[in-house]
Amino acid sequence: EGEPIPEVKAPEGPKGVINVPQRLLMGPGPANANPRVLAAQCLPLLGHMHPPFFKIMDEIQAGLRYLFQTESKYTCLMSGTGHAGMEACISNLLEPGETFVVGDKGIWGLRVADIGERFGAKVVHLKKDAGHTFSYDELKEAVEKHKPAALFLCQGDSSTGVHQNLSGLGELCHKNGTLLIIDTVCTLGGVPFFADAWGIDAMYSGSQKVIGAPPGASPLFFSQRAVDKLKSRKTKPISFCWDLNLVGDYWGWYNSRSYHHTGMVSTWYAMREALAVIGEDGLENLWEKHQRLHNELWAGLKEMGLEPFVEDPAERLVTVNCIKVPPGVDWKAVIDYAMDTYNLEIWGGLGQTVGKIWRVGIMGYNATPGNVELVLAAFREALKKQGKLPD
Ligand code: PMP
Repeated sequence: EGEPIPEVKAPEGPKGVINVPQRLLMGPGPANANPRVLAAQCLPLLGHMHPPFFKIMDEIQAGLRYLFQTESKYTCLMSGTGHAGMEACISNLLEPGETFVVGDKGIWGLRVADIGERFGAKVVHLKKDAGHTFSYDELKEAVEKHKPAALFLCQGDSSTGVHQNLSGLGELCHKNGTLLIIDTVCTLGGVPFFADAWGIDAMYSGSQKVIGAPPGASPLFFSQRAVDKLKSRKTKPISFCWDLNLVGDYWGWYNSRSYHHTGMVSTWYAMREALAVIGEDGLENLWEKHQRLHNELWAGLKEMGLEPFVEDPAERLVTVNCIKVPPGVDWKAVIDYAMDTYNLEIWGGLGQTVGKIWRVGIMGYNATPGNVELVLAAFREALKKQGKLPD
Protein backbone atom coordinates (compact mmCIF):
# COMPACT_ATOMS: atom_id res chain seq x y z
CA GLU A 1 0.00 0.00 0.00
CA GLY A 2 1.58 3.33 -1.10
CA GLU A 3 0.25 6.84 -0.75
CA PRO A 4 -3.34 7.42 -1.97
CA ILE A 5 -3.34 8.64 -5.59
CA PRO A 6 -6.12 11.17 -6.23
CA GLU A 7 -7.37 11.99 -9.72
CA VAL A 8 -4.77 14.03 -11.70
CA LYS A 9 -5.93 17.58 -12.42
CA ALA A 10 -6.10 18.62 -16.06
CA PRO A 11 -3.04 20.64 -17.22
CA GLU A 12 -3.57 24.40 -17.19
CA GLY A 13 -0.05 25.27 -18.23
CA PRO A 14 1.43 26.09 -21.63
CA LYS A 15 -0.01 24.37 -24.67
CA GLY A 16 1.56 24.09 -28.11
CA VAL A 17 4.82 25.62 -29.23
CA ILE A 18 5.95 28.86 -27.61
CA ASN A 19 5.31 32.00 -29.63
CA VAL A 20 7.34 35.14 -28.95
CA PRO A 21 7.07 38.44 -30.86
CA GLN A 22 10.21 39.91 -32.41
CA ARG A 23 11.05 43.15 -30.61
CA LEU A 24 13.89 45.62 -30.87
CA LEU A 25 14.96 46.32 -27.29
CA MET A 26 16.29 49.88 -27.19
CA GLY A 27 15.38 50.57 -23.57
CA PRO A 28 17.73 50.35 -20.58
CA GLY A 29 18.05 46.56 -20.96
CA PRO A 30 17.95 43.80 -21.78
CA ALA A 31 19.23 44.50 -25.26
CA ASN A 32 18.77 41.96 -28.03
CA ALA A 33 21.39 39.23 -27.92
CA ASN A 34 23.62 38.46 -30.87
CA PRO A 35 22.09 35.48 -32.78
CA ARG A 36 25.50 33.74 -32.74
CA VAL A 37 25.36 33.97 -28.96
CA LEU A 38 21.78 32.69 -28.80
CA ALA A 39 22.71 29.78 -31.07
CA ALA A 40 25.43 28.67 -28.65
CA GLN A 41 22.72 27.99 -26.07
CA CYS A 42 21.27 25.25 -28.29
CA LEU A 43 24.45 23.16 -28.11
CA PRO A 44 24.28 19.85 -26.23
CA LEU A 45 24.46 20.01 -22.48
CA LEU A 46 27.64 18.95 -20.75
CA GLY A 47 27.92 17.99 -17.12
CA HIS A 48 28.99 20.93 -15.02
CA MET A 49 32.01 18.99 -13.72
CA HIS A 50 33.11 17.60 -17.10
CA PRO A 51 36.61 18.59 -18.29
CA PRO A 52 35.30 19.99 -21.63
CA PHE A 53 33.02 22.26 -19.59
CA PHE A 54 35.93 23.32 -17.36
CA LYS A 55 37.75 24.24 -20.57
CA ILE A 56 34.83 26.49 -21.52
CA MET A 57 34.93 28.04 -18.03
CA ASP A 58 38.67 28.71 -18.52
CA GLU A 59 37.93 30.39 -21.84
CA ILE A 60 35.25 32.52 -20.17
CA GLN A 61 37.70 33.61 -17.49
CA ALA A 62 40.29 34.56 -20.12
CA GLY A 63 37.58 36.52 -21.98
CA LEU A 64 36.58 38.26 -18.76
CA ARG A 65 40.18 39.20 -18.04
CA TYR A 66 40.29 40.99 -21.38
CA LEU A 67 36.91 42.63 -20.84
CA PHE A 68 37.87 43.79 -17.33
CA GLN A 69 41.45 44.62 -18.37
CA THR A 70 42.96 42.64 -15.53
CA GLU A 71 45.59 40.02 -14.86
CA SER A 72 43.65 38.84 -11.81
CA LYS A 73 42.77 35.16 -11.70
CA TYR A 74 39.69 36.03 -9.68
CA THR A 75 37.09 36.35 -12.38
CA CYS A 76 33.90 34.35 -12.79
CA LEU A 77 30.24 34.43 -13.71
CA MET A 78 27.78 34.50 -10.85
CA SER A 79 24.72 32.42 -11.67
CA GLY A 80 22.05 35.07 -11.84
CA THR A 81 21.49 38.57 -13.14
CA GLY A 82 23.33 41.72 -12.06
CA HIS A 83 21.80 41.47 -8.61
CA ALA A 84 23.69 38.21 -8.04
CA GLY A 85 27.00 40.01 -8.55
CA MET A 86 25.76 42.90 -6.42
CA GLU A 87 24.91 40.66 -3.48
CA ALA A 88 28.08 38.62 -3.97
CA CYS A 89 30.33 41.69 -3.69
CA ILE A 90 28.54 43.02 -0.63
CA SER A 91 28.07 39.75 1.24
CA ASN A 92 31.67 38.61 0.73
CA LEU A 93 33.50 41.88 1.30
CA LEU A 94 31.65 43.31 4.29
CA GLU A 95 31.33 41.80 7.72
CA PRO A 96 28.46 42.73 10.02
CA GLY A 97 29.15 46.04 11.73
CA GLU A 98 31.69 47.26 9.17
CA THR A 99 31.28 50.69 7.61
CA PHE A 100 30.14 50.80 3.99
CA VAL A 101 30.03 54.13 2.15
CA VAL A 102 27.52 53.95 -0.68
CA GLY A 103 27.42 56.55 -3.42
CA ASP A 104 23.72 56.95 -4.04
CA LYS A 105 22.89 58.87 -7.20
CA GLY A 106 20.03 56.75 -8.48
CA ILE A 107 18.26 53.51 -7.88
CA TRP A 108 21.38 51.31 -7.81
CA GLY A 109 23.05 53.11 -4.93
CA LEU A 110 19.76 53.00 -3.06
CA ARG A 111 19.51 49.28 -3.61
CA VAL A 112 23.12 48.57 -2.67
CA ALA A 113 22.58 50.54 0.54
CA ASP A 114 19.52 48.38 1.29
CA ILE A 115 21.45 45.16 0.59
CA GLY A 116 24.38 46.39 2.70
CA GLU A 117 22.01 46.94 5.62
CA ARG A 118 20.49 43.49 5.16
CA PHE A 119 23.96 41.96 5.44
CA GLY A 120 24.58 43.93 8.63
CA ALA A 121 26.94 46.64 7.36
CA LYS A 122 26.87 50.14 8.85
CA VAL A 123 25.83 51.98 5.72
CA VAL A 124 26.76 55.61 5.16
CA HIS A 125 24.57 57.07 2.42
CA LEU A 126 26.26 59.64 0.19
CA LYS A 127 23.39 61.27 -1.64
CA LYS A 128 23.43 63.07 -4.98
CA ASP A 129 20.52 64.57 -6.85
CA ALA A 130 19.39 62.64 -9.91
CA GLY A 131 21.42 63.66 -12.95
CA HIS A 132 24.67 64.41 -11.12
CA THR A 133 27.77 62.46 -10.06
CA PHE A 134 30.23 62.71 -7.18
CA SER A 135 33.38 64.78 -7.44
CA TYR A 136 36.69 63.27 -6.40
CA ASP A 137 36.87 65.72 -3.51
CA GLU A 138 33.45 64.71 -2.15
CA LEU A 139 34.45 61.07 -2.22
CA LYS A 140 37.85 61.83 -0.67
CA GLU A 141 36.20 63.64 2.20
CA ALA A 142 33.81 60.73 2.84
CA VAL A 143 36.49 58.04 2.65
CA GLU A 144 38.91 59.95 4.89
CA LYS A 145 36.17 60.71 7.40
CA HIS A 146 34.62 57.25 7.66
CA LYS A 147 37.58 55.00 6.74
CA PRO A 148 35.03 52.48 5.45
CA ALA A 149 35.70 48.82 4.78
CA ALA A 150 34.30 49.44 1.29
CA LEU A 151 33.14 52.23 -1.01
CA PHE A 152 30.47 51.48 -3.63
CA LEU A 153 29.92 53.43 -6.83
CA CYS A 154 27.89 52.69 -9.92
CA GLN A 155 29.89 53.56 -13.05
CA GLY A 156 26.78 54.12 -15.14
CA ASP A 157 23.49 54.63 -13.36
CA SER A 158 20.81 53.48 -15.77
CA SER A 159 18.04 55.17 -13.76
CA THR A 160 19.47 58.66 -14.18
CA GLY A 161 21.85 58.36 -17.14
CA VAL A 162 24.99 59.50 -15.36
CA HIS A 163 28.56 58.29 -15.80
CA GLN A 164 30.66 58.40 -12.65
CA ASN A 165 34.32 59.33 -13.18
CA LEU A 166 36.42 56.75 -11.33
CA SER A 167 39.85 58.34 -11.68
CA GLY A 168 42.02 58.45 -8.59
CA LEU A 169 39.55 56.49 -6.50
CA GLY A 170 41.56 53.25 -6.40
CA GLU A 171 44.54 55.04 -4.91
CA LEU A 172 42.35 56.99 -2.49
CA CYS A 173 40.66 53.81 -1.26
CA HIS A 174 43.87 51.85 -0.91
CA LYS A 175 45.48 54.61 1.18
CA ASN A 176 42.53 54.42 3.56
CA GLY A 177 42.19 50.65 3.86
CA THR A 178 38.98 50.70 1.80
CA LEU A 179 37.90 48.28 -0.92
CA LEU A 180 36.48 49.88 -4.06
CA ILE A 181 33.35 48.11 -5.41
CA ILE A 182 31.98 49.15 -8.80
CA ASP A 183 28.74 48.33 -10.65
CA THR A 184 29.28 48.15 -14.42
CA VAL A 185 26.01 46.41 -15.36
CA CYS A 186 25.09 48.89 -18.07
CA THR A 187 28.56 50.11 -19.00
CA LEU A 188 31.01 47.21 -19.33
CA GLY A 189 32.10 46.87 -22.96
CA GLY A 190 30.52 50.19 -23.94
CA VAL A 191 32.84 52.61 -22.11
CA PRO A 192 36.44 52.30 -20.90
CA PHE A 193 36.99 50.27 -17.76
CA PHE A 194 40.39 49.16 -16.43
CA ALA A 195 40.14 47.00 -13.33
CA ASP A 196 43.90 46.86 -12.65
CA ALA A 197 45.04 50.29 -13.83
CA TRP A 198 42.22 52.00 -11.91
CA GLY A 199 42.78 50.00 -8.74
CA ILE A 200 39.30 48.48 -8.62
CA ASP A 201 38.84 45.75 -5.99
CA ALA A 202 35.50 44.25 -6.94
CA MET A 203 33.21 44.70 -9.89
CA TYR A 204 30.03 43.08 -11.08
CA SER A 205 28.22 43.41 -14.37
CA GLY A 206 25.36 41.91 -16.36
CA SER A 207 25.23 39.72 -19.44
CA GLN A 208 22.19 41.28 -21.08
CA LYS A 209 23.30 44.78 -22.01
CA VAL A 210 26.49 45.68 -23.88
CA ILE A 211 27.83 42.14 -23.62
CA GLY A 212 25.05 40.97 -25.92
CA ALA A 213 24.00 37.75 -24.19
CA PRO A 214 20.67 36.81 -22.57
CA PRO A 215 20.10 37.74 -18.91
CA GLY A 216 21.35 35.21 -16.37
CA ALA A 217 25.10 35.61 -15.91
CA SER A 218 26.80 38.26 -13.82
CA PRO A 219 30.49 38.75 -14.68
CA LEU A 220 32.45 39.34 -11.49
CA PHE A 221 35.96 40.53 -10.68
CA PHE A 222 37.90 40.46 -7.40
CA SER A 223 41.37 41.89 -6.89
CA GLN A 224 43.98 40.16 -4.73
CA ARG A 225 43.11 42.65 -1.96
CA ALA A 226 39.47 41.63 -2.17
CA VAL A 227 40.35 37.95 -1.93
CA ASP A 228 42.70 38.68 0.99
CA LYS A 229 39.77 40.35 2.75
CA LEU A 230 37.52 37.40 2.00
CA LYS A 231 40.12 34.98 3.36
CA SER A 232 40.70 36.98 6.54
CA ARG A 233 37.02 37.37 7.51
CA LYS A 234 36.19 36.63 11.11
CA THR A 235 32.70 35.46 10.11
CA LYS A 236 31.49 33.26 7.26
CA PRO A 237 29.79 35.15 4.41
CA ILE A 238 26.11 35.09 5.33
CA SER A 239 24.93 33.80 1.97
CA PHE A 240 25.88 30.25 1.01
CA CYS A 241 24.80 30.83 -2.59
CA TRP A 242 27.17 33.77 -3.09
CA ASP A 243 30.04 32.61 -0.85
CA LEU A 244 33.09 33.18 -3.05
CA ASN A 245 35.20 30.83 -0.95
CA LEU A 246 32.96 28.15 -2.46
CA VAL A 247 31.89 29.62 -5.81
CA GLY A 248 35.52 30.65 -6.43
CA ASP A 249 36.59 27.09 -5.77
CA TYR A 250 34.26 25.86 -8.49
CA TRP A 251 35.88 28.39 -10.86
CA GLY A 252 39.42 27.22 -9.94
CA TRP A 253 40.39 30.37 -7.99
CA TYR A 254 42.22 28.36 -5.35
CA ASN A 255 43.86 25.79 -7.62
CA SER A 256 41.24 23.09 -7.24
CA ARG A 257 37.68 22.63 -8.42
CA SER A 258 34.82 21.43 -6.33
CA TYR A 259 31.10 21.37 -6.76
CA HIS A 260 29.20 24.25 -5.24
CA HIS A 261 26.15 24.55 -7.48
CA THR A 262 25.31 23.31 -10.95
CA GLY A 263 26.96 25.66 -13.39
CA MET A 264 24.48 27.28 -15.78
CA VAL A 265 25.76 25.26 -18.68
CA SER A 266 23.83 26.75 -21.62
CA THR A 267 23.95 30.30 -20.25
CA TRP A 268 27.71 30.03 -19.97
CA TYR A 269 28.01 28.73 -23.53
CA ALA A 270 26.29 31.95 -24.54
CA MET A 271 28.70 34.01 -22.46
CA ARG A 272 31.67 32.18 -23.94
CA GLU A 273 30.43 33.14 -27.37
CA ALA A 274 29.65 36.74 -26.41
CA LEU A 275 33.17 37.11 -25.03
CA ALA A 276 34.58 35.69 -28.27
CA VAL A 277 32.63 38.32 -30.22
CA ILE A 278 33.92 41.08 -27.91
CA GLY A 279 37.49 39.87 -28.41
CA GLU A 280 37.00 39.84 -32.20
CA ASP A 281 35.47 43.33 -32.21
CA GLY A 282 38.08 44.79 -29.83
CA LEU A 283 37.33 46.97 -26.82
CA GLU A 284 38.62 50.22 -28.34
CA ASN A 285 36.34 49.74 -31.36
CA LEU A 286 33.37 49.00 -29.11
CA TRP A 287 33.97 52.09 -26.97
CA GLU A 288 34.35 54.26 -30.08
CA LYS A 289 31.16 52.82 -31.62
CA HIS A 290 29.06 53.43 -28.51
CA GLN A 291 30.34 57.01 -28.22
CA ARG A 292 29.70 57.71 -31.92
CA LEU A 293 26.15 56.36 -31.84
CA HIS A 294 25.41 58.28 -28.64
CA ASN A 295 26.52 61.45 -30.49
CA GLU A 296 24.33 60.55 -33.48
CA LEU A 297 21.33 59.94 -31.24
CA TRP A 298 21.74 63.30 -29.51
CA ALA A 299 22.27 65.18 -32.77
CA GLY A 300 18.90 63.86 -33.95
CA LEU A 301 17.10 64.41 -30.63
CA LYS A 302 18.37 67.99 -30.34
CA GLU A 303 17.03 68.74 -33.82
CA MET A 304 13.60 67.86 -32.40
CA GLY A 305 14.18 70.21 -29.47
CA LEU A 306 14.67 67.37 -26.97
CA GLU A 307 17.19 67.84 -24.17
CA PRO A 308 19.41 65.54 -22.10
CA PHE A 309 18.41 64.96 -18.49
CA VAL A 310 22.09 65.08 -17.52
CA GLU A 311 23.21 68.63 -18.17
CA ASP A 312 26.99 68.23 -18.02
CA PRO A 313 28.24 66.25 -21.04
CA ALA A 314 31.17 64.98 -18.95
CA GLU A 315 28.70 63.23 -16.63
CA ARG A 316 26.50 61.83 -19.41
CA LEU A 317 26.35 58.09 -19.92
CA VAL A 318 26.66 56.94 -23.53
CA THR A 319 24.99 53.55 -23.19
CA VAL A 320 21.72 54.51 -21.47
CA ASN A 321 20.52 57.89 -22.67
CA CYS A 322 18.09 59.84 -20.53
CA ILE A 323 15.91 62.34 -22.39
CA LYS A 324 13.83 65.00 -20.61
CA VAL A 325 10.10 64.77 -21.27
CA PRO A 326 9.13 68.32 -22.37
CA PRO A 327 6.19 69.96 -20.59
CA GLY A 328 2.83 68.97 -22.07
CA VAL A 329 4.12 65.83 -23.79
CA ASP A 330 2.48 62.49 -22.99
CA TRP A 331 5.62 60.37 -22.42
CA LYS A 332 3.69 57.12 -22.26
CA ALA A 333 2.06 57.78 -25.65
CA VAL A 334 5.52 58.06 -27.24
CA ILE A 335 6.55 54.71 -25.77
CA ASP A 336 3.29 53.13 -26.93
CA TYR A 337 3.70 54.57 -30.43
CA ALA A 338 7.19 53.07 -30.78
CA MET A 339 5.99 49.67 -29.62
CA ASP A 340 2.75 49.64 -31.62
CA THR A 341 4.33 50.91 -34.83
CA TYR A 342 7.80 49.38 -34.82
CA ASN A 343 7.86 46.71 -32.09
CA LEU A 344 10.48 49.03 -30.66
CA GLU A 345 11.10 49.32 -26.95
CA ILE A 346 11.89 52.76 -25.55
CA TRP A 347 11.40 53.04 -21.82
CA GLY A 348 10.44 55.66 -19.23
CA GLY A 349 12.19 56.59 -16.00
CA LEU A 350 12.91 54.47 -12.94
CA GLY A 351 12.56 55.44 -9.28
CA GLN A 352 12.70 59.22 -8.93
CA THR A 353 12.89 59.78 -12.71
CA VAL A 354 9.51 58.17 -13.55
CA GLY A 355 7.46 60.55 -15.71
CA LYS A 356 10.42 62.91 -16.13
CA ILE A 357 12.49 61.08 -18.73
CA TRP A 358 12.61 58.53 -21.51
CA ARG A 359 15.48 56.08 -21.55
CA VAL A 360 17.07 54.85 -24.76
CA GLY A 361 19.74 52.18 -24.58
CA ILE A 362 22.29 51.85 -27.35
CA MET A 363 24.07 48.74 -26.26
CA GLY A 364 26.04 45.85 -27.68
CA TYR A 365 24.43 44.00 -30.55
CA ASN A 366 21.80 46.75 -30.85
CA ALA A 367 24.37 49.51 -31.24
CA THR A 368 23.94 50.14 -34.97
CA PRO A 369 23.30 53.33 -36.98
CA GLY A 370 20.08 51.82 -38.35
CA ASN A 371 18.68 51.24 -34.87
CA VAL A 372 19.52 54.79 -33.84
CA GLU A 373 17.72 56.08 -36.94
CA LEU A 374 14.66 54.01 -36.11
CA VAL A 375 14.56 55.38 -32.56
CA LEU A 376 14.78 58.92 -33.94
CA ALA A 377 12.02 58.22 -36.47
CA ALA A 378 9.77 56.88 -33.70
CA PHE A 379 10.32 59.99 -31.55
CA ARG A 380 9.76 62.31 -34.52
CA GLU A 381 6.51 60.64 -35.56
CA ALA A 382 5.17 60.29 -32.01
CA LEU A 383 5.86 63.96 -31.23
CA LYS A 384 4.21 65.04 -34.50
CA LYS A 385 1.16 63.00 -33.54
CA GLN A 386 0.92 65.02 -30.33
CA GLY A 387 1.31 68.27 -32.30
CA LYS A 388 4.70 68.94 -30.69
CA LEU A 389 6.59 69.04 -33.99
CA PRO A 390 5.50 70.60 -37.28
CA ASP A 391 4.35 68.14 -39.96
N1 PMP B 1 22.95 47.97 -11.97
C1 PMP B 1 22.63 48.67 -13.08
C2 PMP B 1 23.40 49.90 -13.41
C3 PMP B 1 21.60 48.21 -13.91
O1 PMP B 1 21.30 48.93 -15.01
C4 PMP B 1 20.90 47.04 -13.57
C5 PMP B 1 19.79 46.51 -14.45
N2 PMP B 1 18.97 47.42 -15.02
C6 PMP B 1 21.27 46.36 -12.42
C7 PMP B 1 22.30 46.85 -11.64
C8 PMP B 1 20.57 45.12 -11.97
O2 PMP B 1 20.82 44.11 -12.87
P1 PMP B 1 19.79 42.89 -13.10
O3 PMP B 1 18.48 43.47 -13.45
O4 PMP B 1 20.47 42.17 -14.24
O5 PMP B 1 19.78 42.09 -11.86
